[in-house]
Parts: sequence; C-alpha cells; structure tokens
Amino acid sequence: MHKAIDRIQVFVFERDREEAYLGNQGDAEFALNAHHIVRRFNGTVYPTRDRSLVVKLTDTDGAVGWGETYGLVAPKAVAAIIDDLLGPYLKTLAPGMPDTAWDALYDLQRVRGYWGGYLADALAALDIALWDLHTRSTGVSLQAALGRDGAGTLPAYVSGLPPKTTAERVEMAADWQARGFDAVKLPLSATNNGDAPGEFKALRDRLGEDHKIALDIHWTKDVAETLQLDRDLAPFAPWFLEAPVKPEDIAAQIDVGRGITAPLALGEEWRTEWDYIPRAGACSIVQPEMGHTGITQFMRIARRAGEISSRVIPHATIGLGIFMSASLRAGFAVGAESHEYQHTIYDRNAELLDGPASCTAGAFHIPDTPGHGVEPNADGLAHLTEIML
Ligand SMILES: [Mg+2]
Repeated sequence: MHKAIDRIQVFVFERDREEAYLGNQGDAEFALNAHHIVRRFNGTVYPTRDRSLVVKLTDTDGAVGWGETYGLVAPKAVAAIIDDLLGPYLKTLAPGMPDTAWDALYDLQRVRGYWGGYLADALAALDIALWDLHTRSTGVSLQAALGRDGAGTLPAYVSGLPPKTTAERVEMAADWQARGFDAVKLPLSATNNGDAPGEFKALRDRLGEDHKIALDIHWTKDVAETLQLDRDLAPFAPWFLEAPVKPEDIAAQIDVGRGITAPLALGEEWRTEWDYIPRAGACSIVQPEMGHTGITQFMRIARRAGEISSRVIPHATIGLGIFMSASLRAGFAVGAESHEYQHTIYDRNAELLDGPASCTAGAFHIPDTPGHGVEPNADGLAHLTEIML
C-alpha cells in the first residue's frame, strides 16, 4: 500500500502536429486563436495540436503515479479545481482503494450539481494517477487489480481515414487491412459530400463482407435523419453507428436506439455511471473515454453495460497516452470487444512514453507490468510544462 499523498503536480502536455485532427482548416471553418479550429459540420472546436493535462502524484515515501485528462480547451480550469479543492482534500485522505477516494472527492460538490464537465475531468486525472500509484506500490498491473491477470491482446479498430477522396480513403483502409486490421471507423464528415452510402459501398466492395465498418455521425443528425441513414446503410451492414444525435438529448437517443437496425454506440462524452444509467436501454455499445471517466467510472460504466450484455468499445481521444494506457488495461480487464486506435495520434505520442503497448496486426499488445505501465520519458518530459499551483 502506498503512503499518504505528499505532492501533486499538474502539467500541460503540448505537441505540434502537421495536420490537425480531422484535417486542417477548410472552407467556412475558422481559426479560434492560434491553436483551434471551429468545424462547420458540427460547430465544435478542435485543436490544431495535441494537448492534454497530466498529473503526477508523489506519496510520502517518494512513490509516484501518473494521470491524464482532457486539456484541449482551458486546461488551467482543471488545474485550478485540483489546486483549490481536490488536491488539498486528497492529501487528507487515508491511503486506500482509489474508488473510495473518487467517491469522497465527488461528494464534495455533488449536492451543488457539479456532476461532470471540468470537475469530473479533474477527478479523472487524479483517479488514474491514484490507481497507478496504488497498483505500482503493490507491484501488480492495473489489469490484475481490475480482475484480469497477465499480458494479452485487445483488438484495435482503425479510427479515421484522413485522405481527401473516396478512392484514397479506400486505399488507406485496404492498406490497414493488409496489415492485419479487420475494423475501421470513418467520420460522416469525411465521406464524399456526406454520401455515407456511397462511401460504405466503396469500402465494402474493396474490403469484403467480413470487414467491420463503423460510422461516427458526430452528433449532426436528428432522429428522422438517423433512421433514414440507417436504412440507406443497411445493405452495407455497418458495424455500428456512433453519436448520431445531440449528446444530452436522451429521448432522441432512446428513439434512435429503438428505431435503427445497426447497433447504436454512445458514450465518449460521459463522465460517470450517472450519464449511462438513463441511456442503458438505448445503446448496445458503450464507448467510455478514460480521459473523462478515470478508471473508477470507466469500470462502473463497463460493469453496468455488461449486466445487460451491452458491448464495450472504448473511445480514444487526443493526448500524451497515459489515459490511453489506462483505457487499454481497463478495457482488457472487462473483456472489451475492441478499442479505438487513433493511428494519427497513438504511435507518435507513444514515443514520448516508457512502457506503452504496441499496436500491430489488428491488436494492442498489453504488457504485464505494474500500474498502467507508462510514464513520460525524457522526450515526453520535454513536452510537459508544469503549472505552478
Ligand atoms: Mg466519436
């Protein structure tokens, strides 16, 4: 068992990219300061470089744990919550199970309605670091602590086909298939002028009927439009349809879940099991995002989903890769069907870490090492800027 938390450090991870996630700025999109693009297809802000918030906990014996959460926008807001509230309280807690600490920290502001958003992101970063410290100090892997011992593989699906034309995207998908990957997801915005059926036909013709092909709709449709899209795509047997309607519109999500034939996948914006509970009957696939949920809530969502035989296919966001490593191990522990593989992000930033899982031949190869298994190496530390609290 680790000792009491003695020191809490918060860092911003930043790294430039040649091409922004989902592509560089296009027509009618606009730049918001130097490092963001507002996308016209869904009104959402996206970063032009990789950025996240990293947390390092040190106990009174000098043992450390690393955590990470979103830092795409206003990372100092998350740091302020840690500095003013969660960090000082965490230091007062007796060392114990990390999920107990998560509950104690969440209770501090629960009756005021702080149930998610930046508060939950701060909780997630601390929770991942605490699980890392807890498991490293007892010499076990995170997956063993969560119920599945040893090394192993977790199937990976290729996320995103960045080229500009259907022909090039089909070539890229075929190239990944040749490298042993049997699943791919594309965003609706990257289909030919929104012609998802045409794009699916081209992919299906080239990849064959067994290849899994999913569509991320990025919250851009209403219920009727989603039902029509589902009918249009039915001949091409989509693996799943992701995030078709507005993320907080539970009634629409339930209507879509009942009305479509393809599996409905939801969950990348959720923070806690309280987000999942009212949608439990709507989606047959949950996509918890470790950077929002932390390990404690990832596991609670996954276990609830498992109780009604829903499938777990975790989401992967933009970051250094600490939360990604935690997600791979938690996903492995709960028997996830697959895990998102952001091929334009993962391997590049994994070079900044010691101990990451490799992703080859259609799967992540998860080592049997203590904790979540990664920490920034010298190159990684060079991309971290400590926020002085
Ligand atoms: Mg998505």
